[in-house]
Amino acid sequence: MNHLLSVSSDAKTIKGQKKGYLTGILYLAPADESVSSGGFNTCPKASAGCKASCLFTAGRSAIFPMINQARIRKTVELKNDREGFLRQLASDISALVRKAERDNLIPCVRINGTSDLPFLAHAMAELFPNVQFYDYTKLPHPWTRVRKNYSLTFSHAENNLTDCLAALDHGINVAVVFGTKKNEPLPKTWHGYPVVSGDESDLRFLDKRGKVIGLYAKGNAKQDATGFVERNGLFTFAAAK
Ligand code: SF4
Repeated sequence: MNHLLSVSSDAKTIKGQKKGYLTGILYLAPADESVSSGGFNTCPKASAGCKASCLFTAGRSAIFPMINQARIRKTVELKNDREGFLRQLASDISALVRKAERDNLIPCVRINGTSDLPFLAHAMAELFPNVQFYDYTKLPHPWTRVRKNYSLTFSHAENNLTDCLAALDHGINVAVVFGTKKNEPLPKTWHGYPVVSGDESDLRFLDKRGKVIGLYAKGNAKQDATGFVERNGLFTFAAAK
């Protein structure tokens, strides 16, 4: 089995490196993208809007088809040989930890870069209790799945406002993609919760609690018409809590 983790492979994780963190991310094929190739649905709560705007279709993967082919291959490997996949993932994380030590950086790992599989993250977080893990998720009740070394940020979509507000109520931050133009500031609040920028880095486990993590729309998300990208509420938000 080939290597599974991508290390500091995008602009946001490179920003994290400047803050002292070496980030490894596992990118599988999201939602049902791998099903016709023998894989499985990796995002049980994906919405039409998030699927159309997913990272799977953004950045370098939009230019080089082999990137997404590799993600599909990894997803099929996970389905067909779960034990082998977990062994390889653990080996990749060990290598990341060693590299971080050599480079005087702190290792951190996002298991669900383009998937939503808590069992994988929990298995690795248990195996590496001294490594910080983090993910975004659309599965409801995220507060039941956080661990000492596993942080979760809930992701807003066009169909999960109730789950977003429940997450915020339970101290889990919520990431919201806003339709704000790049040269304009993000809204100050969303449903009464203060918005902070999530584009400075991907180090979500460092965010203070009780925040909405505001992201600018990128790639296909700029054309979103499903409500996945928050546009309607921009001028009607309540005062900050
Ligand atoms: S849940 Fe996340 S990873 Fe899955 S399709 Fe939606 S945006 Fe992509």
